[in-house]
Amino acid sequence: MSTSPTIAIVGSGPIGSAYARLLLESLPTARVVMLEAGPQLTAIAGESVRNIPDPEEKERARELSQGPQAGSFRESLGIPSSTVVEGMFTARGGTHLLDFGGKGSAHATSFPAAAASTNVGGMGAHWTCATPSPSFSERVAFICDAEWDDLMAEASRLLHVQNAAFADSAVGDAIRSLLAEEFGDELPDGYGPSTLPVSGDPQPDGSMRWAGADVVLGPLIDPESPLSERFELRELSLVRRVNHAGDRVTGLTVEDLRSHEIYTIDADLVVVAGDAFRSPQLLWASGIRPRALGHYLTEHPVVISTVALDEDSMRRFATEEQLDEELERRSANPADPVAAVNRIPFSEPDHPFSLQVMYAENPPFQLDPEHPAAGNRWGYVNMGYGMRKRPRYEDALTFDDGEPDYRGFPNMTIEYALTESEQAEIANATEHLRRAGAALGTFVAEPRLLPNGSSLHYQGTMRMGDADDGTSVADPFSRVWGYENLVVGGNALIPTATTMNPTLMSVAIAVRGARKAAEQLSALQVAEASN
Ligand code: FAD
Repeated sequence: MSTSPTIAIVGSGPIGSAYARLLLESLPTARVVMLEAGPQLTAIAGESVRNIPDPEEKERARELSQGPQAGSFRESLGIPSSTVVEGMFTARGGTHLLDFGGKGSAHATSFPAAAASTNVGGMGAHWTCATPSPSFSERVAFICDAEWDDLMAEASRLLHVQNAAFADSAVGDAIRSLLAEEFGDELPDGYGPSTLPVSGDPQPDGSMRWAGADVVLGPLIDPESPLSERFELRELSLVRRVNHAGDRVTGLTVEDLRSHEIYTIDADLVVVAGDAFRSPQLLWASGIRPRALGHYLTEHPVVISTVALDEDSMRRFATEEQLDEELERRSANPADPVAAVNRIPFSEPDHPFSLQVMYAENPPFQLDPEHPAAGNRWGYVNMGYGMRKRPRYEDALTFDDGEPDYRGFPNMTIEYALTESEQAEIANATEHLRRAGAALGTFVAEPRLLPNGSSLHYQGTMRMGDADDGTSVADPFSRVWGYENLVVGGNALIPTATTMNPTLMSVAIAVRGARKAAEQLSALQVAEASN
């Protein structure tokens, strides 16, 4: 190793960005090269597209992230970009389905909504920015509570987490009061209705500048900061292989997607932070194939609904004047429809799911003007429960060396099924959602279970464990078993059944991994200097 270690990072989402930031902050001579397969969408690398005020520009940024289903590529598959036909699966804006049905598409019949984003900032340029913390059995048992709290605090700093976002909204407060009346007695202290922590920076006009990988990278993309001199982000650079010899990785093979030139980067440390599908696929393509790779896939089954808030109920806790103030504040920022965000977190034993309640002036779909709740002055909530999926070896992503996907990687097949106990938990959560809806108003969209893969929170496919016993891919510090300088990152590391949005937890796990990697690289430098 030279006196200036080179760190190569695959993927520019929040997790790759956390590694870049923490490693450069703790290693004064290190250099980071970050490789991202997708394009940069915004002038500030990795910024949330939700901050783009112009709707057309916002739409274009989303389309640029949609890989094989965007624009001309999509048309080449025989699907005009503007056409949505009945029964056709479409991905959320800014994402693309893995199983898009064309040549080279993945096979995901049992997990049809599986999706990814391909752009600088990854899904973190499109996310809703909800950042709750794991609790009870959602946490990883071999990390003690005191350390979790420290990791979570550092992850919150990196993601600019606000624990009391929109807390001054009287409408939001009324929603919490109604939910507390309905559920309060059944929930443990500290786990009742509360504001949902979100990642962003409140602005003086009451709006939010939503956070993306940009805030995690922070000084690395600030030309005034000396750290930026040691950081390089290469967009449209597809990592094709992690190179290795014995128990060490030596670097990466990269394709420049503009020129199609293939080149290698030598590295002292490689961090693979693609996502829960493409990171395991890259490891597999590189011949790094721990038994658990791609297995133990989990997500959150999601039941959602929309409710028109009931005027009489709301007026018990908020006045007409407060509603007027709220509407006036919101009209100042029409580009961003989210106002108050509330939740009831996961708790054990009686509330093993988490409820997210987003207040908005309009429903997310066109409501028939004749509907009695159309134009509801008090507005609507979009709310849903996230539930647990227990990790099982057979819920898996497998790869076929004989069938290349559209990028030439071993194609993926996803096999996934919900068990009876999971179905029972879904039924229980749906009942809770009906109660929450009745407490707040009238359903304008009845509770419905979304297709598998809809959560966009894919976990477990590179899970961490405390023993190299074939049930995990990475050690407690996120290093792939058997490789001392290969680190993996992302939601794929989460080994537990969780119900909350996972990014904060994954950044916390990355903080632990980055601290250990920095310690390891420093020790190597000292050892080599003394030789
Ligand atoms: P990603 O953000 O997916 O980034 C991975 C990057 O790696 C991608 O840009 C990809 O192009 C790149 N890559 C992959 N393979 C290669 C390769 N071989 N070579 C080069 N580059 C490669 N989470 C929450 O916690 N809260 C939320 O409220 C929330 N809401 C969401 C809403 C939406 C619409 C979406 C899309 C996601 C949401 N998520 C949410 C999920 C959240 O965005 C992800 O958890 C988070 O972005 C994961 O970060 P990551 O860095 O691991 O991966």
